[in-house]
Amino acid sequence: MIFSQIPQAPADPILGLTDAFKKDPRADKVNLGVGIYKDEAGQTPVLKTVKKAEAILLDAEKTKNYLGIEGVELYNTAVQTLLFGAKNDIINAKRAYTAQAPGGTGSLRVAAEFLVRNTDSKTLWVSNPTWANHQNIFQTAGLTIKEYGYYKAETHDMDFDAMITDLQAAQPGDLILLHGCCHNPTGIDLSSSQWETVGQLCVDKELVPLFDFAYQGFGAGIEEDAQGLRIVAAKVPELLVANSFSKNFGLYNERIGAITVVAANEETAQKSFSQIKKTIRATYSNPPAHGGLIVSTILSDETLRQEWEVELAEMRQRIAEMRVLFVETLKSEGVKQDFSFISRQNGMFSFSGLSKEQVNRLKDEFGVYIVGSGRISVAGMTKQNIPVICKAIAQVL
Ligand code: PMP
Repeated sequence: MIFSQIPQAPADPILGLTDAFKKDPRADKVNLGVGIYKDEAGQTPVLKTVKKAEAILLDAEKTKNYLGIEGVELYNTAVQTLLFGAKNDIINAKRAYTAQAPGGTGSLRVAAEFLVRNTDSKTLWVSNPTWANHQNIFQTAGLTIKEYGYYKAETHDMDFDAMITDLQAAQPGDLILLHGCCHNPTGIDLSSSQWETVGQLCVDKELVPLFDFAYQGFGAGIEEDAQGLRIVAAKVPELLVANSFSKNFGLYNERIGAITVVAANEETAQKSFSQIKKTIRATYSNPPAHGGLIVSTILSDETLRQEWEVELAEMRQRIAEMRVLFVETLKSEGVKQDFSFISRQNGMFSFSGLSKEQVNRLKDEFGVYIVGSGRISVAGMTKQNIPVICKAIAQVL
C-alpha cells in the first residue's frame, strides 16, 4: 500500500472558502472571496458577445480534431496585439511567440516549468502580498520564492521605496513577478514613472520580468491597463507574460489564457518557444479549443470587438460604483475609520485592512465570506448585499 500514509492537504485559502460558503445554511450569506464578477442581480452571466461567438462557432465547426501544441493561431496573434498594441516593434521584429494555455494559472505554470528546465534562473521575486496561488504554482515547479515590499499597511498605499530597496538585493538572472494591472490583492498599481523605474532596474540588474496579466480592462481600460507592460517591454531584452481571459471575457470555466515569451531577437525567441512547446507537450499535449476560438472570433470581428469593449466597460464601471457605494454605506453605518482608500484601488478587489480575527468574525457571526488577508471581492457586491456587508463590518471593527 502506498497511499495510506498520505496526509490531508490544507484547503485552498480562496477556493476552500467557496466550499465552506456552499455548506453555510444562512439565507443572507455573502461570498466575497473568489474573484468572480457579479452583475447587479448577483449573477455571473455569459457575455452577450461570447454567446454570439458561440453561435457562429456552433454553425461553422467541422471537426473536433486536435489543435497544434500552441493552440489557435489567430488567437495567439490577437493576444499579442492586446498585450503590446497593434504596431509594436516587438511584434514587427518577431521577438514574441505566444501559446494558448489553460487559463492564467496554466500559463503561469508553463512559464515556471519552462524556466526551471531551460534556464539557470531559480529565484522568483514576488510582491508582498501577492495572489495566494503564486507561491503554490512556482514552488511546485521548483523555483525559490523571495519577496519584495509593495504595500504600506498604515497608509493603505504603495511602498515603492521598499520595492526598489528589496529588489536591489536581486541577482542577475533572477525573475521578478509583476502584476500587469489591478494588483491582486491590494488593487494598487504602479504609476507610469514607477514602471519606468522598475523597467530600468530590470535592465541595470539584469532581472527578467514575468508579467501576470489577469485583469486587462478592469482598471482604466484595455490600452491603459497595458501601459506598465509596454513600458517595461520597451526597455528589457527578455520577458514572459502569462495572461488570462477568465475575467475580461467572463470565460472562467473555459480555462483560457496564454503564455508569451519575448527574447532579444527572433532566433532566440523561436528557440525558447520550441522549449515552451516541449513543456506543453509533456503537460497537457495541446490546449482545449473552445475558449481560444471564442476569444479569437470576437477580437477578429470589428463589430463583436466593439460590443465586447462595451460589455467590459460596463463591468469595470459597475465595480467602480460599488466601491463608492461601499465607502458611503460604511460611513452611514456609523463607521468612523477612514475607508476612502477603497475608492482609489483598481480592479476586482479591495484590500480592506481587516484583521484575520475580524475576517473570521464576519464569516462565523454574519455569513460574510472574505479572504483571510482582508481582501474583499468588490466585484461580488451589489446594491442589495452592500448594506448587509457594511452592517457586519461595522459590528466587527
Ligand atoms: N493571476 C492572478 C493575479 C489572478 O488573480 C488570477 C485569478 N484569480 C489568475 C492569475 C488566474 O486566472 P485563471 O482563473 O485564468 O487561471
